[in-house]
Amino acid sequence: MRIPLLDLQAQYRTIAPEVDAAVQRVVTSQRFILGPEVEGFEASVAEYLGVGHAVGVSNGSDALYLTLAALGVGPGSEVITTAYSFVATVEAIVRVGARPILVDIDPETYLLDVHKALEEVGPRTAALLPVHLFGRCVDIPRLRAAAPSIPIVEDAAQAFGASHAGIHAGALGAAGCFSFFPAKNLGGFGDGGMVTTHDASLARALRSLRAHGQRRGTTYMHERMGGNCRLDALQAAVLSVKLPYLPGWNAGRRRNAERYQAAFESLDLPIALPPRSTPKSEDVFGQFVIRAPRRDALRTHLAEAGIGSAIYYPHGLHREPCFFNLGYTAGDFPHAEKAARECLALPIYPELSPTHIDEVVQTIASFYQG
Ligand SMILES: *Cc1c(COP(=O)(O)O)cnc(C)c1O
Repeated sequence: MRIPLLDLQAQYRTIAPEVDAAVQRVVTSQRFILGPEVEGFEASVAEYLGVGHAVGVSNGSDALYLTLAALGVGPGSEVITTAYSFVATVEAIVRVGARPILVDIDPETYLLDVHKALEEVGPRTAALLPVHLFGRCVDIPRLRAAAPSIPIVEDAAQAFGASHAGIHAGALGAAGCFSFFPAKNLGGFGDGGMVTTHDASLARALRSLRAHGQRRGTTYMHERMGGNCRLDALQAAVLSVKLPYLPGWNAGRRRNAERYQAAFESLDLPIALPPRSTPKSEDVFGQFVIRAPRRDALRTHLAEAGIGSAIYYPHGLHREPCFFNLGYTAGDFPHAEKAARECLALPIYPELSPTHIDEVVQTIASFYQG
């Protein structure tokens, strides 16, 4: 049985006629940049997430960059974030000219250690940039209560639809940054992104920055430098079709996570499972990540059985060559480094069947039980 890490064709098959019609509508209109498709999708996202404003942008990396820029974060200031994420999180801080301050993770959730993050807050701190890694929310209310004057930018690229105490990712902080990269739990047919916020003036700044800093309602009147960072109409049309299905898909991921939990718990394997989704912290399992001894050999064993897996991430961000100049060294973030050695993401996509899950579990059991 071949079980890929992610099967985008399985999802496409369930909605093909609707998506194809939406694409055709854009092609017929020949309106590709911003316009009614993007506005309609922005309104749907704002309503679904419970925020006043949603601004469609080119991708999740630019969402982070534009948000920090719109908040005025720049040279001389610091942004506190996690040592364990995709490179784009820290890259965005460097792109605006600020200094990233990395902190270690909570070894159970892989999320930024809130206590350690708060210890780093100082006079230069211009923003906190927690990452809702693998689809689970950082405890934003706790961060905000301890540091009420510092804007919190949520990197929610892996967490569309996740919530904390009933509030969606993207509505918890000063701004939420999303990615619609095809492999995310809400993915387009190419690159795309979104920034959400309750703050009208921040939304206005973002709309300007995504179009070269142009003043609203003008042409060739550029107030500040931004970039060409707009969401395009084709992506918005595809994503508008997908958005109503997302709650069901996220529920499917949680159901699959429960199936893995139940199946693994009945066996006695030396692996650690991710924490369960709870009503207080509803996880969307963008990834289902286990910790596994002899991880790389297990990965080979799975591949030989036709089962896809991935390592998110093979090292902490302080070990990325592009960030060596930040001055961190091996050993600075022991929990992130240990996770990087042990973690393995298993297939969790909503269309996965119970038979698939049993197959993955049995293949892992056969590795450890010989
Ligand atoms: C995917 C991702 C991004 C970047 O999103 P892109 O759309 O690929 O630019 C940023 N942060 C995290 C945590 C991500 O997973």
